[in-house]
Amino acid sequence: MSAPSSAIESTLVENRVFPPSEATVKAARISGMPAYEALCAEAAADYEGFWARLGREHLQWTKPFTQTLDESNAPFYQWYADGELNASANCLDRHMGTAAENKTAIIFEADDGAITRVSYKELLGRVSRFANALKALGVVKGDRVLIYMPMTIEGVVAMQACARLGAIHSVVFGGFSAKAVHERVIDVGASVVITANAQLRGGKELPLKAIIDEALSMGGCEKVRNVLVFERTKTACNMVAGRDLTFSQAMQGQSDHCEPVAVGAEHPLFILYTSGSTGKPKGVQHSTAGYLMWAKVTMDWTFDLQPSDVFWCTADIGWITGHTYVTYGPLAAGATQIIFEGIPTYPNAGRFWQMIERHKCTVFYTAPTAIRSLIKAAEADPVVHPDRSDLSSLRILGSVGEPINPEAWMWYYKNVGGERCPVVDTFWQTENGGHVITPLPGATPLVPGSCTLPLPGIMAAIVDETGNDIPNGSGGMLVIKRPWPSMIRTIWGDPERFKKSYFPDEMGGKTYLAGDGAVRSADRGYFRITGRIDDVLNVSGHRMGTMEIESALVAKTDLVAEAAVVGRPDDLTGEAICAFVVLKRSRPTGEEAKQIAKELRDWVAKEIGPIAKPKDIRFGDNLPKTRSGKIMRRLLRSIAKGEAITQDTSTLENPAILEQLAQSN
Ligand code: ATP
Ligand code: MG
Repeated sequence: MSAPSSAIESTLVENRVFPPSEATVKAARISGMPAYEALCAEAAADYEGFWARLGREHLQWTKPFTQTLDESNAPFYQWYADGELNASANCLDRHMGTAAENKTAIIFEADDGAITRVSYKELLGRVSRFANALKALGVVKGDRVLIYMPMTIEGVVAMQACARLGAIHSVVFGGFSAKAVHERVIDVGASVVITANAQLRGGKELPLKAIIDEALSMGGCEKVRNVLVFERTKTACNMVAGRDLTFSQAMQGQSDHCEPVAVGAEHPLFILYTSGSTGKPKGVQHSTAGYLMWAKVTMDWTFDLQPSDVFWCTADIGWITGHTYVTYGPLAAGATQIIFEGIPTYPNAGRFWQMIERHKCTVFYTAPTAIRSLIKAAEADPVVHPDRSDLSSLRILGSVGEPINPEAWMWYYKNVGGERCPVVDTFWQTENGGHVITPLPGATPLVPGSCTLPLPGIMAAIVDETGNDIPNGSGGMLVIKRPWPSMIRTIWGDPERFKKSYFPDEMGGKTYLAGDGAVRSADRGYFRITGRIDDVLNVSGHRMGTMEIESALVAKTDLVAEAAVVGRPDDLTGEAICAFVVLKRSRPTGEEAKQIAKELRDWVAKEIGPIAKPKDIRFGDNLPKTRSGKIMRRLLRSIAKGEAITQDTSTLENPAILEQLAQSN
């Protein structure tokens, strides 16, 4: 059998379906599938009218917009372009004089367990003071400010303060090296850097300011006038006279009132570099209005946010998920949210579950990589199992960042959600600004491992290389056919790369190409992400997504904790499947490794079919991951081929693992 070149075969059958309970449907903001379908119909009937309505209802404008979408310079689309607003005012000032004014905005839990609460009113005061401090240093609208901060209230304050002045922030995750920081300082042309002396993670104090000093000494950073240093701990750090100021020095005498600067709707709110899973990171530029509107709307829709909710997104502010679902979405929506400084395994791997109980968290949003590692920990040690904590406050669970394997989904649904909480598997990318394909908790019947259906207004489809639709049941490339307000505006400083990466000429230059492969189920039309387009395997003419084989391996729940699959050239079959596997027990070697490899091969043959049997199986203590926890298959491809790694590894979390995997053959 030979498949058409664009089709990916899908043999993994998922028959489990979990519809929302009647009570959940009744109480939800989007109540039942008819309500979802009505919103989709509204968008289909009058696309611009639909987005105009959301723009008016969810944002406060200092100057209302009169035009909704401007396509004249496609694919450089503009939304609400003649309107003016301020993002920080839309997150903070809007709640003054309402019931949310004295509501807790942030419950901060530090690494050592210390808890701080900040109300909306207090947060507005802190943001305003810090914005005044930035203003005093000459920061004005359009300046770029690089933020390299731990997960703290101050991290959010720094971002919001930039937004208040119309300065463009670029947050770099606090785990990145000096070299990665240096590249980003130069690429964005930062004039101010905001950092902390140190960060606390897992009981350890790690320097941050020292990394900034190193980065700024690498040359070409003369534009950086000031470095602001939050004193997270009492440890002294090097301070460069005339350039560096502590937060207390900078804020001394500053008023806690700061007039928000109104900016045009299209003014860049921030630039954020992608994770680098597939190549050199791209500086994704987002707008103010379109981005913020969708951050707020998806809080309401995807998380069904209610005034009494305690929302917790575990993502770091250094990632897009932390931008949209920590810094902007929850505040725009007036939610109470938890911010956690530490790591999920300290003081033990039950920390997340204990925190859910402690703060009566109702909506919990995390990544598959965390879930998989906590499954492994819980199975090894019952003391950190979620069943040791009272998780009855939870009502909605979310997943983001990678495809979630159906078995990990089931574990999350059962052990964390008590088979009561819908799991929203939200598909989106840095470039999307907010969720694009996701279940709605009070409407969509859930299928493990599927992100289900596009949100209303998102014209997602699956097409072949030339942009033709592919029928349900066959795989292809995920695209979004019409522009939407929260989409990427350009790659900072590289409009050509923007066009080439996302709007390829072969598809007409106007269709957004996500870069992921996907398939829609024949019965429901549900989307399932099959892996990156670059990762598609072709074995004897059969095209397969990596995800499917990985999920089959992880479904061997007594043995496998995590798996990554790549292809390598093979004389006989064109491409051979190579699987990298982390077991729930220690890494096997010698005869034992051979025997387990055989067992896994037979298992995959039974689950999917003999064609999907991995030719090579290698065992590791871990897999190479980005600092955001995503598996970097491009590096595994080199290892599988026996090549030296010459690619960009600046975003790799655990370089030592490459050596181990290279030798594990
Ligand atoms: P780079 O673009 O630099 O290679 P990246 O794509 O990993 O990095 P992000 O924007 O952080 O950077 O991640 C978006 C990608 O994450 C998506 O393209 C998809 O591959 C994956 N992803 C995110 N959420 C989901 C999900 N719910 N299901 C499946 N895949 C997901
Ligand atoms: Mg990407």
